[in-house]
Amino acid sequence: MEITRHLFYNLSLLIVIAFFSLIWFEKKSNRTLSKTTSIFFFAFSLWVCLAVSYTPAPNLHFDLREIPIIISGLYLGLGPLMCALCIVLRSFFDTDGGFLANALLYAPIGFLLWRLHPWYVKIGSRQKIMASVMISITVSIFTAICLEVFDPPVNHFDAWFAYLLIPPLGVGIYSYFIEFIRRNILMYQSLVKTEKLEAVEQMGAAISHEIRNPLTAASGFVQLLKDPSVPAHKRNEYLAIVSQELESAERVIQDYLTFSKPALDYMEELQVKKELTQVINILRPTANQYSVQISTNFSLVGTIRGDRQKFQQCFLNVIKNAIESMPGGGQLTISTHFSEYDITIEVKDTGVGMTKDQISKLGEPYYSTKGKRGTGLGMMVVYGIVKAMKGTISVESAVGAGTTFTFTFPAVIKNEQF
Ligand code: ADP
Ligand code: MG
Repeated sequence: MEITRHLFYNLSLLIVIAFFSLIWFEKKSNRTLSKTTSIFFFAFSLWVCLAVSYTPAPNLHFDLREIPIIISGLYLGLGPLMCALCIVLRSFFDTDGGFLANALLYAPIGFLLWRLHPWYVKIGSRQKIMASVMISITVSIFTAICLEVFDPPVNHFDAWFAYLLIPPLGVGIYSYFIEFIRRNILMYQSLVKTEKLEAVEQMGAAISHEIRNPLTAASGFVQLLKDPSVPAHKRNEYLAIVSQELESAERVIQDYLTFSKPALDYMEELQVKKELTQVINILRPTANQYSVQISTNFSLVGTIRGDRQKFQQCFLNVIKNAIESMPGGGQLTISTHFSEYDITIEVKDTGVGMTKDQISKLGEPYYSTKGKRGTGLGMMVVYGIVKAMKGTISVESAVGAGTTFTFTFPAVIKNEQF
């Protein structure tokens, strides 16, 4: 059973080549194959088959050349090209009877595969596998007949057994894998599409909820203001509410914009101390409202590269969360440190804290424990901005004791000391 043994050896080589090609394909970002790459892959497989042929007599070559030819012919319409290549490659070994038999067999097969290709690409997955195996059995039968006519092998049973079993098996394995991968890619694409649609739906729901509420409230108060009998102090109160509601709608829109476009627009050198001081000033009224004491420790600060507006938005969200976590008042400490390469910013509160589970959900869209008051967008935006600025975030928290957010950003090398 020498022929069977050698053909199995040939099959294992083809599978190894296919395996490595699959790994390479997986690593490719766009997951598409160009025609040139496919031709190279099949031509290489064909060459390997011929190179490892079992040659019991000089003009006899037993191998699995039909596998790359059939698969490339059916799937890509490369039949004529691969058959021509096979005839040329075979001529390097000898140009006697074996060569003639090979040419006589593969010239019509090339033509046949070329005619079958348009039909083949249209049929279903299961039919493709069945059809390719049937075609392989037919080619194998003709190969065995050619052998009998031109150069009868010593062991007839071995030759027939090997050719009827191994090439159809190999073709079956190849087409099964191709169909399997194709199905996976299609599934992945439809999943991405569904996710995108879901995101749009969620966005729509969130916008109508988060933006409509403040707008409705604002327009209600505007209606009230129309009444000339409203006293002046009430008027100011209503106007303050209108302005607050509009601001909150604005903030939601800002968060959405940053999330959908986290790329940094205007990169510039930012002095961490200056930017954080500005953010703290914006939030001071909120801190007072919550009776939160803010202390800073900016003894050593440096410069980082980033988008000013986004950097401020990021820390506005973080510090606001910290203040909101201390409804009964508390201590908020903001400090910065720098080393040669990094700048660390620490935001520490003595608020309600978070459980491990809550920490793991930070940054997920719409994750909020604040009920109607929360949007669950703030931290999502924070993570987006920090990632775009090549920074990292770590969180330490204990329920009832407080939370510390630590941010690290790459420093601009010329660090200044303040
Ligand atoms: P929102 O503030 O609208 O709820 P965020 O995305 O800003 O949404 O925050 C999500 C959730 O993370 C908050 O609802 C809160 O539960 C939790 N969180 C964020 N920062 C802190 C903090 N400093 N202390 C305790 N919990 C926090
Ligand atoms: Mg928030």
